[in-house]
Amino acid sequence: MSVQPVRNADLIVINGRVLTMDSTRPTAEAVAVVDGLIAAVGDNATVEALRGPDTKIIDARGGSVVPGFIEAHMHLFSGAAELAHLQLAGVSGLDALREAVLAYAAARPNQRMLVGQGADYTILGSERVTRHHLDAILPDRAFIMAAPDHHTYWANTKALEMADVLHGRELTPGNEIVMGDDGLAEGELRENEAFNPVLKLAGEERVRLGLSTGGEPDPVPEGDERAGDRAIMRRGLDWCARHGITSIQNMDGNFYQLELLSEVQAEGDLICRVQIPFHYKNFMTPDALDKASVMAERYDGDWLSSGLVKMFYDGVLDSWTAVMIEPYADRPDWVGEPLFSPEEFKRIATEIDRRGLQIAVHSIGDGATRAVLDGYEAAAKVNGKRDSRHRVEHVELTTASDIQRFVDLGVIASMQPPHPPGAMSFPLEPTVSRIGRQRWPYAYPTRTLIEAGAHVVFASDWPVAPIDPIEGMQAAMLRKPWAEDMPDQSVSLHQALAGYTVEGAYAEFKEDRKGQLKPGYFGDLVVLSADIEATDPAVLHQVRPVTTICGGRVSYQA
Ligand SMILES: [Zn+2]
Repeated sequence: MSVQPVRNADLIVINGRVLTMDSTRPTAEAVAVVDGLIAAVGDNATVEALRGPDTKIIDARGGSVVPGFIEAHMHLFSGAAELAHLQLAGVSGLDALREAVLAYAAARPNQRMLVGQGADYTILGSERVTRHHLDAILPDRAFIMAAPDHHTYWANTKALEMADVLHGRELTPGNEIVMGDDGLAEGELRENEAFNPVLKLAGEERVRLGLSTGGEPDPVPEGDERAGDRAIMRRGLDWCARHGITSIQNMDGNFYQLELLSEVQAEGDLICRVQIPFHYKNFMTPDALDKASVMAERYDGDWLSSGLVKMFYDGVLDSWTAVMIEPYADRPDWVGEPLFSPEEFKRIATEIDRRGLQIAVHSIGDGATRAVLDGYEAAAKVNGKRDSRHRVEHVELTTASDIQRFVDLGVIASMQPPHPPGAMSFPLEPTVSRIGRQRWPYAYPTRTLIEAGAHVVFASDWPVAPIDPIEGMQAAMLRKPWAEDMPDQSVSLHQALAGYTVEGAYAEFKEDRKGQLKPGYFGDLVVLSADIEATDPAVLHQVRPVTTICGGRVSYQA
């Protein structure tokens, strides 16, 4: 009788506090990877039996070893491009803004349009930012800056003039160039149609196409231009690997992004698995979904995939563009304007569902969330109930009755732990006053949804918030109520980790392949600098990825 020789491991991680997220074996010391897949999980001795002369050994030195993080909602291409923008997070007051803008401008004397990002809605305190503030800082060069949520930009006069929007422009509902009493634009531009003409001048239209129109670049970039775009993608993938991310669920997209990533893959540099959706906009007609079906068919691999349709139902609270059931607390005659009518949304959702595709809809207000759930319910009625795993992105506000519908309809709630005001980088105001005391109990209802039994995935929405999943876990665990009588929405370490691992895998229909450290699963894991279970949550952000491994290959090493 002959014994099949056991193949040696390509890579072994030893001496770890392994949190497998596999309920049949929650903890271990070591993990072995063969041919990109996990071959063994267990104690050091058992796993080291697979060690051969060429096996790479990684000593975790008692640090946690967890499944590679799955980022369930982010924007790879534009986020990567924005790493080069003026970073305004944490900048407060006109003097500090002036200092930051002037230094950035001085270092880029030939740049046609200067772009800042991460400017809080309250960067000038209670005073609303206008073009006049920005003119006082930089009168003769075009400058624009984005709010962290990217739903509002502020432009100076020069930028408004160059983009020919100083006198306003006709826009579709939900978009607004805020006009002043003098009949000229004030500088505040709400939503894509309002700020795209200005952003276009920055020459980064291509990186935002997947978000702004879902369309393809025309002409198709070749040569240096295309190589530059691939370099942006690589920079974004590196940024993800550095933060322990091994899978990305991108929330904007087109063929161009998939093609660039395939080229990066052919060059051997695709170091994260990426899912790119088709973006359906309200100016399209349902036949545009043919493209979504082709994307799904053509890209269906372990490394690059599609199969998802992203939509926006509303905007954001801070610019009153989120859709509410009852009026805004600080604008009693206004509930927001949806980007689709409820009937239109039902029709489109039914058509997407009929094609067997998954749907993810940006929905912030409780009115939007209700309409989106209604759409999913309508689709299931017409097409029959199936394992559709449609998603609602953000769910910043909802109601008690709709919480239960997430469970009943099998809809995934995609939550961003860094987003609740006061949780990480976003200030309490103006958001909490806009929501109003009455709605606070169902604002950002992470724990309520988890305890109700809904599937909840976690993400950053980078570049809206910092990408770091560990900071996200910390924000989710340390979430504080805005008032004593509000329900506690904080989660446990295990729930936080699940939101960035197993739940993310479920959202991709890949819970049989990723999100856990289990034999046969992808060799996607992260070795952390400390034992996260023994770390005080207050300093969890100090725990850093030391080694990120994706498909058995080291994608980041500190
Ligand atoms: Zn997003």
